[in-house]
Amino acid sequence: YQVKRSGRNGVRRFDAALDAELERTVLLTREFQSALTRDQLTLVYQPIYNLKTGELSKIEALVRWTHPEFGVISPSVFIPIAETSGQIMSVGRWVLEQACLQACRWREHHGWAGTVTVNVSPVQFAQPGFVDEVKQALLLSGLPAHKLELELTEGAVIHSPTLVQTALRGLQRLGVEIAIDDFGTGYSSLAYLRDLPIGCIKIDRSFTEDLASPRRAPQYAVALITAIVGIARTLDLQVVAEGVETHEQVEAVRGLGCDFAQGYFFARPLDAGRMDELLDPGQPELNVGWHKRLN
Ligand code: C2E
Ligand code: MG
Ligand code: MG
Ligand code: MG
Repeated sequence: YQVKRSGRNGVRRFDAALDAELERTVLLTREFQSALTRDQLTLVYQPIYNLKTGELSKIEALVRWTHPEFGVISPSVFIPIAETSGQIMSVGRWVLEQACLQACRWREHHGWAGTVTVNVSPVQFAQPGFVDEVKQALLLSGLPAHKLELELTEGAVIHSPTLVQTALRGLQRLGVEIAIDDFGTGYSSLAYLRDLPIGCIKIDRSFTEDLASPRRAPQYAVALITAIVGIARTLDLQVVAEGVETHEQVEAVRGLGCDFAQGYFFARPLDAGRMDELLDPGQPELNVGWHKRLN
Protein backbone atom coordinates (compact mmCIF):
# COMPACT_ATOMS: atom_id res chain seq x y z
CA TYR A 1 0.00 0.00 0.00
CA GLN A 2 2.96 2.24 0.62
CA VAL A 3 4.05 1.69 -2.96
CA LYS A 4 0.64 2.67 -4.33
CA ARG A 5 0.39 5.73 -2.18
CA SER A 6 3.74 7.14 -3.17
CA GLY A 7 3.27 6.53 -6.90
CA ARG A 8 5.94 5.92 -9.52
CA ASN A 9 8.79 7.50 -7.66
CA GLY A 10 7.85 5.49 -4.62
CA VAL A 11 8.09 2.30 -6.65
CA ARG A 12 11.52 3.24 -7.90
CA ARG A 13 12.71 4.06 -4.39
CA PHE A 14 11.36 0.75 -3.17
CA ASP A 15 13.27 -1.12 -5.89
CA ALA A 16 16.41 0.78 -5.05
CA ALA A 17 16.06 -0.21 -1.42
CA LEU A 18 15.63 -3.86 -2.41
CA ASP A 19 18.67 -3.65 -4.67
CA ALA A 20 20.74 -2.16 -1.90
CA GLU A 21 19.56 -4.90 0.46
CA LEU A 22 20.48 -7.62 -2.03
CA GLU A 23 23.83 -6.02 -2.71
CA ARG A 24 24.52 -5.91 0.99
CA THR A 25 23.65 -9.59 1.38
CA VAL A 26 25.91 -10.56 -1.52
CA LEU A 27 28.73 -8.46 -0.09
CA LEU A 28 28.31 -9.84 3.45
CA THR A 29 28.09 -13.40 2.12
CA ARG A 30 31.42 -12.95 0.36
CA GLU A 31 33.03 -11.25 3.34
CA PHE A 32 31.76 -13.84 5.78
CA GLN A 33 33.58 -16.59 3.88
CA SER A 34 36.86 -15.65 5.55
CA ALA A 35 35.45 -14.41 8.86
CA LEU A 36 36.39 -17.52 10.81
CA THR A 37 39.89 -17.96 9.35
CA ARG A 38 40.62 -14.26 9.89
CA ASP A 39 39.64 -14.49 13.54
CA GLN A 40 36.77 -12.04 13.10
CA LEU A 41 34.34 -14.08 15.17
CA THR A 42 34.17 -13.74 18.93
CA LEU A 43 31.83 -14.83 21.67
CA VAL A 44 30.14 -12.58 24.17
CA TYR A 45 28.40 -13.88 27.25
CA GLN A 46 25.20 -12.97 29.05
CA PRO A 47 24.48 -14.07 32.62
CA ILE A 48 21.25 -15.86 33.52
CA TYR A 49 20.23 -15.56 37.16
CA ASN A 50 18.27 -17.84 39.42
CA LEU A 51 15.39 -15.66 40.64
CA LYS A 52 15.01 -17.54 43.90
CA THR A 53 18.63 -17.68 45.06
CA GLY A 54 20.22 -14.83 43.08
CA GLU A 55 22.89 -17.20 41.77
CA LEU A 56 24.49 -16.75 38.37
CA SER A 57 23.29 -20.16 37.23
CA LYS A 58 23.85 -20.08 33.51
CA ILE A 59 25.76 -18.10 30.93
CA GLU A 60 24.57 -17.82 27.33
CA ALA A 61 27.24 -17.63 24.64
CA LEU A 62 26.36 -15.28 21.77
CA VAL A 63 28.47 -14.99 18.63
CA ARG A 64 29.67 -11.66 17.17
CA TRP A 65 31.28 -10.83 13.86
CA THR A 66 33.61 -7.85 13.84
CA HIS A 67 34.36 -6.81 10.29
CA PRO A 68 37.43 -4.54 9.87
CA GLU A 69 35.44 -2.07 7.82
CA PHE A 70 31.77 -2.55 8.78
CA GLY A 71 32.31 -3.03 12.50
CA VAL A 72 30.25 -5.38 14.68
CA ILE A 73 27.57 -7.28 12.76
CA SER A 74 24.65 -8.91 14.55
CA PRO A 75 24.14 -12.69 14.45
CA SER A 76 20.57 -12.07 13.25
CA VAL A 77 22.25 -10.78 10.07
CA PHE A 78 25.06 -13.27 9.53
CA ILE A 79 23.66 -16.53 10.96
CA PRO A 80 21.06 -16.72 8.13
CA ILE A 81 23.91 -16.06 5.69
CA ALA A 82 25.98 -18.83 7.24
CA GLU A 83 22.98 -21.16 7.09
CA THR A 84 22.51 -20.53 3.39
CA SER A 85 26.19 -20.86 2.53
CA GLY A 86 26.70 -23.99 4.63
CA GLN A 87 29.28 -22.28 6.81
CA ILE A 88 27.00 -22.69 9.79
CA MET A 89 28.58 -26.12 10.30
CA SER A 90 32.10 -24.79 10.90
CA VAL A 91 30.84 -21.68 12.71
CA GLY A 92 28.59 -23.78 14.94
CA ARG A 93 31.39 -26.18 15.78
CA TRP A 94 33.71 -23.28 16.60
CA VAL A 95 31.10 -21.64 18.87
CA LEU A 96 30.47 -24.91 20.68
CA GLU A 97 34.17 -25.55 21.30
CA GLN A 98 34.92 -22.00 22.41
CA ALA A 99 31.94 -21.87 24.76
CA CYS A 100 32.88 -25.20 26.37
CA LEU A 101 36.52 -24.16 26.75
CA GLN A 102 35.53 -20.83 28.29
CA ALA A 103 33.12 -22.49 30.70
CA CYS A 104 35.96 -24.76 31.84
CA ARG A 105 38.20 -21.75 32.47
CA TRP A 106 35.48 -20.19 34.62
CA ARG A 107 35.10 -23.47 36.50
CA GLU A 108 38.85 -23.56 37.19
CA HIS A 109 39.53 -19.89 37.90
CA HIS A 110 36.35 -18.92 39.72
CA GLY A 111 34.92 -22.22 40.89
CA TRP A 112 31.86 -21.41 38.84
CA ALA A 113 29.60 -24.46 38.77
CA GLY A 114 26.97 -23.16 36.36
CA THR A 115 25.84 -24.18 32.92
CA VAL A 116 26.95 -22.67 29.64
CA THR A 117 24.21 -22.37 27.02
CA VAL A 118 24.88 -22.42 23.29
CA ASN A 119 22.49 -21.56 20.46
CA VAL A 120 22.21 -24.19 17.77
CA SER A 121 20.89 -23.52 14.29
CA PRO A 122 18.23 -25.92 12.97
CA VAL A 123 20.50 -26.49 9.95
CA GLN A 124 23.36 -27.53 12.21
CA PHE A 125 21.12 -29.69 14.35
CA ALA A 126 19.64 -31.55 11.39
CA GLN A 127 22.99 -32.90 10.15
CA PRO A 128 23.75 -36.49 11.10
CA GLY A 129 27.16 -35.82 12.71
CA PHE A 130 25.90 -33.24 15.18
CA VAL A 131 25.84 -35.40 18.32
CA ASP A 132 29.44 -36.50 17.63
CA GLU A 133 30.48 -32.87 17.33
CA VAL A 134 28.98 -32.12 20.71
CA LYS A 135 30.78 -35.13 22.17
CA GLN A 136 34.04 -33.88 20.63
CA ALA A 137 33.62 -30.40 22.11
CA LEU A 138 33.01 -31.90 25.55
CA LEU A 139 36.03 -34.21 25.28
CA LEU A 140 38.27 -31.45 23.97
CA SER A 141 37.32 -29.03 26.73
CA GLY A 142 36.72 -31.41 29.60
CA LEU A 143 33.36 -29.79 30.39
CA PRO A 144 30.93 -32.18 32.11
CA ALA A 145 28.04 -32.88 29.70
CA HIS A 146 25.36 -31.76 32.16
CA LYS A 147 26.99 -28.29 32.31
CA LEU A 148 26.23 -27.76 28.65
CA GLU A 149 22.77 -26.71 27.51
CA LEU A 150 21.87 -26.39 23.85
CA GLU A 151 19.23 -23.83 22.86
CA LEU A 152 16.97 -24.84 20.01
CA THR A 153 14.01 -22.98 18.57
CA GLU A 154 10.59 -24.58 18.20
CA GLY A 155 11.17 -24.60 14.45
CA ALA A 156 14.29 -26.76 14.87
CA VAL A 157 12.36 -29.29 16.91
CA ILE A 158 9.57 -29.87 14.42
CA HIS A 159 11.88 -29.81 11.39
CA SER A 160 12.69 -33.34 10.19
CA PRO A 161 11.23 -35.07 13.26
CA THR A 162 12.96 -38.48 13.15
CA LEU A 163 16.44 -37.06 12.68
CA VAL A 164 15.76 -34.54 15.41
CA GLN A 165 14.42 -37.20 17.75
CA THR A 166 17.50 -39.35 17.18
CA ALA A 167 19.78 -36.38 17.84
CA LEU A 168 17.86 -35.38 20.98
CA ARG A 169 18.06 -38.91 22.36
CA GLY A 170 21.78 -39.01 21.56
CA LEU A 171 22.30 -35.76 23.44
CA GLN A 172 20.20 -37.05 26.31
CA ARG A 173 22.43 -40.13 26.51
CA LEU A 174 25.47 -37.84 26.67
CA GLY A 175 23.81 -35.94 29.50
CA VAL A 176 23.59 -32.61 27.64
CA GLU A 177 20.63 -30.35 28.54
CA ILE A 178 18.18 -28.99 25.97
CA ALA A 179 16.30 -25.69 26.14
CA ILE A 180 13.66 -24.30 23.79
CA ASP A 181 14.60 -20.73 22.84
CA ASP A 182 12.13 -17.94 21.98
CA PHE A 183 9.33 -20.10 23.33
CA GLY A 184 5.85 -19.06 22.26
CA THR A 185 6.80 -17.45 18.97
CA GLY A 186 7.20 -20.49 16.69
CA TYR A 187 4.65 -22.70 15.05
CA SER A 188 4.55 -26.05 16.77
CA SER A 189 2.40 -28.38 18.78
CA LEU A 190 2.91 -28.58 22.51
CA ALA A 191 3.16 -32.37 22.39
CA TYR A 192 6.89 -32.22 21.69
CA LEU A 193 7.45 -30.80 25.17
CA ARG A 194 6.01 -33.99 26.59
CA ASP A 195 7.56 -36.40 24.09
CA LEU A 196 11.10 -35.07 23.74
CA PRO A 197 13.89 -34.82 26.34
CA ILE A 198 13.60 -31.07 26.93
CA GLY A 199 14.56 -29.57 30.29
CA CYS A 200 14.00 -25.84 29.95
CA ILE A 201 11.92 -23.28 28.11
CA LYS A 202 12.99 -19.71 27.49
CA ILE A 203 10.01 -17.39 27.25
CA ASP A 204 10.51 -15.05 24.32
CA ARG A 205 11.46 -11.46 25.01
CA SER A 206 8.25 -10.15 23.41
CA PHE A 207 6.19 -11.49 26.34
CA THR A 208 8.49 -9.92 28.93
CA GLU A 209 8.41 -6.66 27.04
CA ASP A 210 4.61 -6.50 27.16
CA LEU A 211 4.61 -6.88 30.95
CA ALA A 212 5.45 -3.24 31.43
CA SER A 213 4.34 -1.82 28.14
CA PRO A 214 2.12 1.25 28.09
CA ARG A 215 1.07 0.30 24.55
CA ARG A 216 -0.13 -3.27 24.94
CA ALA A 217 -2.27 -4.56 27.78
CA PRO A 218 0.04 -6.22 30.32
CA GLN A 219 -2.76 -8.56 31.49
CA TYR A 220 -2.33 -10.57 28.27
CA ALA A 221 1.37 -11.05 28.91
CA VAL A 222 0.58 -12.00 32.51
CA ALA A 223 -1.97 -14.58 31.34
CA LEU A 224 0.38 -16.05 28.75
CA ILE A 225 3.38 -16.26 31.07
CA THR A 226 1.19 -17.79 33.79
CA ALA A 227 0.00 -20.42 31.31
CA ILE A 228 3.54 -21.18 30.13
CA VAL A 229 4.76 -21.53 33.72
CA GLY A 230 1.80 -23.82 34.42
CA ILE A 231 2.74 -26.10 31.53
CA ALA A 232 6.37 -26.06 32.62
CA ARG A 233 5.47 -27.01 36.22
CA THR A 234 3.35 -29.93 35.03
CA LEU A 235 6.08 -31.22 32.73
CA ASP A 236 8.86 -30.47 35.24
CA LEU A 237 10.68 -27.98 33.02
CA GLN A 238 12.72 -24.96 34.04
CA VAL A 239 11.54 -21.54 32.86
CA VAL A 240 13.78 -18.65 31.85
CA ALA A 241 12.35 -15.18 31.14
CA GLU A 242 14.29 -13.50 28.33
CA GLY A 243 14.78 -9.79 27.73
CA VAL A 244 14.24 -8.50 31.26
CA GLU A 245 15.12 -4.81 31.12
CA THR A 246 13.53 -3.23 34.18
CA HIS A 247 13.22 -3.90 37.87
CA GLU A 248 9.47 -4.00 37.40
CA GLN A 249 9.84 -6.82 34.87
CA VAL A 250 12.15 -8.79 37.19
CA GLU A 251 9.58 -8.60 39.97
CA ALA A 252 6.78 -9.50 37.57
CA VAL A 253 8.43 -12.61 36.09
CA ARG A 254 9.58 -13.68 39.53
CA GLY A 255 6.07 -13.28 40.89
CA LEU A 256 4.67 -15.30 37.99
CA GLY A 257 6.94 -18.21 38.89
CA CYS A 258 9.77 -18.02 36.35
CA ASP A 259 12.89 -19.76 37.70
CA PHE A 260 15.53 -17.73 35.86
CA ALA A 261 15.84 -14.42 34.09
CA GLN A 262 18.21 -12.82 31.64
CA GLY A 263 18.34 -9.37 30.14
CA TYR A 264 19.82 -5.90 30.06
CA PHE A 265 18.52 -5.21 33.57
CA PHE A 266 21.17 -7.62 34.91
CA ALA A 267 23.80 -7.28 32.21
CA ARG A 268 24.27 -6.89 28.50
CA PRO A 269 26.26 -9.59 26.73
CA LEU A 270 29.85 -9.15 28.01
CA ASP A 271 33.22 -10.11 26.61
CA ALA A 272 35.08 -12.90 28.41
CA GLY A 273 37.18 -10.40 30.40
CA ARG A 274 34.14 -8.57 31.76
CA MET A 275 32.52 -11.89 32.59
CA ASP A 276 35.67 -12.77 34.56
CA GLU A 277 35.09 -9.64 36.66
CA LEU A 278 31.48 -10.60 37.19
CA LEU A 279 32.45 -14.09 38.38
CA ASP A 280 35.23 -12.79 40.62
CA PRO A 281 33.80 -12.73 44.14
CA GLY A 282 36.21 -9.89 44.95
CA GLN A 283 34.43 -7.49 42.65
CA PRO A 284 30.86 -8.54 41.98
CA GLU A 285 29.69 -5.01 41.08
CA LEU A 286 27.32 -6.07 38.36
CA ASN A 287 25.17 -8.55 40.24
CA VAL A 288 25.27 -7.28 43.80
CA GLY A 289 22.97 -4.39 42.97
CA TRP A 290 20.03 -6.38 41.78
CA HIS A 291 20.49 -9.06 44.42
CA LYS A 292 20.12 -6.41 47.12
CA ARG A 293 17.07 -5.08 45.38
CA LEU A 294 15.50 -8.54 45.38
CA ASN A 295 15.99 -9.12 49.09
P1 C2E B 1 18.61 -15.44 21.33
O1 C2E B 1 19.30 -16.74 21.48
O2 C2E B 1 17.16 -15.38 21.68
O3 C2E B 1 19.46 -14.44 22.20
C1 C2E B 1 18.95 -13.35 22.89
C2 C2E B 1 19.17 -12.07 22.13
O4 C2E B 1 18.54 -11.01 22.84
C3 C2E B 1 20.65 -11.66 22.03
O5 C2E B 1 20.80 -10.93 20.81
C4 C2E B 1 20.81 -10.74 23.22
O6 C2E B 1 21.87 -9.83 23.09
C5 C2E B 1 19.48 -10.03 23.22
N1 C2E B 1 19.09 -9.55 24.54
C6 C2E B 1 19.43 -10.04 25.75
N2 C2E B 1 18.84 -9.35 26.74
C7 C2E B 1 18.10 -8.39 26.16
C8 C2E B 1 17.25 -7.35 26.65
O7 C2E B 1 17.07 -7.15 27.85
N3 C2E B 1 16.65 -6.55 25.74
C9 C2E B 1 16.83 -6.72 24.40
N4 C2E B 1 16.20 -5.88 23.57
N5 C2E B 1 17.62 -7.69 23.89
C10 C2E B 1 18.25 -8.51 24.76
P2 C2E B 1 21.99 -11.25 19.80
O8 C2E B 1 23.25 -11.55 20.56
O9 C2E B 1 22.01 -10.16 18.79
O10 C2E B 1 21.53 -12.61 19.13
C11 C2E B 1 20.41 -12.66 18.32
C12 C2E B 1 20.07 -14.09 17.97
O11 C2E B 1 21.09 -14.64 17.13
C13 C2E B 1 20.01 -15.00 19.18
O12 C2E B 1 18.77 -14.88 19.81
C14 C2E B 1 20.21 -16.34 18.52
O13 C2E B 1 19.01 -16.82 17.97
C15 C2E B 1 21.17 -16.00 17.39
N6 C2E B 1 22.53 -16.38 17.80
C16 C2E B 1 23.41 -15.72 18.59
N7 C2E B 1 24.55 -16.42 18.74
C17 C2E B 1 24.40 -17.55 18.03
C18 C2E B 1 25.24 -18.70 17.77
O14 C2E B 1 26.36 -18.83 18.29
N8 C2E B 1 24.72 -19.68 16.95
C19 C2E B 1 23.46 -19.59 16.40
N9 C2E B 1 23.04 -20.58 15.61
N10 C2E B 1 22.66 -18.53 16.63
C20 C2E B 1 23.12 -17.52 17.43
MG1 MG C 1 19.41 -18.13 22.85
MG1 MG D 1 15.92 -16.33 22.81
MG1 MG E 1 14.64 -14.06 21.61
